[in-house]
Amino acid sequence: MVLECKHVWEHISGYLDGNLDAAVLEEVQKHLEHCEICSAILDSTRNILILTADERVFELPLGFSERLHARLETEMRGFTYGPSGSEEGDT
Ligand SMILES: [Zn+2]
Repeated sequence: MVLECKHVWEHISGYLDGNLDAAVLEEVQKHLEHCEICSAILDSTRNILILTADERVFELPLGFSERLHARLETEMRGFTYGPSGSEEGDT
């Protein structure tokens, strides 16, 4: 039995959680070895999961986001001086 990409995608969350059947796991791993698309998807899925987990683990102190927001605003203002819509080559 050969797994297609879309089948692998269905198993990715189970793969990351370690919930797959040994047989399925083997097929998925075999597929990932030679399929760049699915390895890339697995990579980005893993990153998203780690980010979500981090968000749960870390609680930012209240003043922090406010300060960060102010800083972002200042930096964004620095980037956007000049009239908008002056990008070239869009005709
Ligand atoms: Zn694939």
